[in-house]
Amino acid sequence: MHTRLSFFGATGTVTGSRFLLEIMGRKFLVDCGLFQGLKKNRLKNWEPFPVPPSEIERILLTHAHIDHSGYIPCFCKQGFSGKINCTHATHALCEIMLHDSGYLQEEDARWANKKNFSKHKPALPLYTVEDVENALSFFQSVHYGEDILISDGLRVKFKDAGHILGSSFVDIKTTVNSKTRRFLFSGDLGSPMRPILRDPVQVHEVDYLILESTYGNRLHSSDHKQRDKELARVINESIQRGGILVIPSFAVERSQELLFYIRELEEKMIIPSLPVYLDSPMAINATSVFEKWTSEYDFQAKLLLLEGKNILRPGHLRCVKDVEESKALHDVKGPAIILSASGMLQGGRILHHLEHRLSKSENTVLFVGYQAEGTRGRAILEGKTEVKIHGQSIKVKAKIENISGFSGHADYNEILAWLMGFNRPPLKTFIVHGEPNSSQVLADKIKNLLDWDVVIPAFKESFEL
Ligand SMILES: [Zn+2]
Ligand SMILES: [Zn+2]
Repeated sequence: MHTRLSFFGATGTVTGSRFLLEIMGRKFLVDCGLFQGLKKNRLKNWEPFPVPPSEIERILLTHAHIDHSGYIPCFCKQGFSGKINCTHATHALCEIMLHDSGYLQEEDARWANKKNFSKHKPALPLYTVEDVENALSFFQSVHYGEDILISDGLRVKFKDAGHILGSSFVDIKTTVNSKTRRFLFSGDLGSPMRPILRDPVQVHEVDYLILESTYGNRLHSSDHKQRDKELARVINESIQRGGILVIPSFAVERSQELLFYIRELEEKMIIPSLPVYLDSPMAINATSVFEKWTSEYDFQAKLLLLEGKNILRPGHLRCVKDVEESKALHDVKGPAIILSASGMLQGGRILHHLEHRLSKSENTVLFVGYQAEGTRGRAILEGKTEVKIHGQSIKVKAKIENISGFSGHADYNEILAWLMGFNRPPLKTFIVHGEPNSSQVLADKIKNLLDWDVVIPAFKESFEL
């Protein structure tokens, strides 16, 4: 059986997931993500895709994060006209995230034209909101576990990856002349025992595994039970300092997780009920998607629903959609919590809050997520005493806190524990979606501890399987 797997992204980096699987001449793309972060990576978004998108039959999408879905509108512009399969919740979240991405692309182009720094005159967006509308018309979503029979002997299934709402492993099974092959793309593998989400499904039998390695060289600093304690400490200390607690947060998942914890800490009276401003239209919309897809909650979250709890709504929650209302938050005196996006401080309303709050020592900035190379968030975490925001230098005087236990990615022990549940080693395991050191450390651990055949593919590398 002729099968070929090619890696067109997420090699040596955590962004741009794009994997081409060719099975007997039919082409499938697993994930269609945008490159983000470093400029040399971002420039890859502007190169034509190495295989004409019109030749690709389907996109199988693991989850809604832009580094997995954000290239889809571009792909459709280049002639893709097949189906895009994913889970229902991924579809709902993509509607929000891709619209936002299209809007940001248009804004970037407008900004480049205004400042005249683009080589292209006029600067064009990578794609527009209209391109996003077009791309969304190709989506065909399914439930977890539902068989998608593509043809005789070729079926696809989505299994819960426990990373964000709707996130999945793509499980592809081919049968030719009664010989069966299974491919599993991990997408992003969730960290178990997180609130709201189910744990990643245990997979047993796989021939080829494509595995992410974001946290391949790290352990989460605090264990799961410590996370809410740490959050309580940061909130209570921020109340003592009398300032504002600003939390840059990814609009999808992390924001809802934080709302969940804050409500719970309030209910247990570990923290007082204080004003919580959710200042991100995208996070507000994502919260509505969460409140619609309660079927995807884990057991504990469902039990809380049965008890009549509004699990994503702390007592003094205020959802701030309006721009004027967002600006008015600059006059709010502490104690209060402002949750805003983007999570890596690359844009969005969070920048206005930091512009006002970062240089005052009574305030606190709490990081609760992965900060990629080249982002402002990473610079602040690495101890930079000054950062540029909207062209101005801002001194970093606020207390900087970081709780890494909130990560949506499994750390290396959690990955290894998941791999230990396999019945047998895959024929080959491909390590992707990590900075070079993370991928290497994880590959070594898998080789040494499990004795599996592991490879770290290079950009555009292809394998005959
Ligand atoms: Zn992700
Ligand atoms: Zn990812």
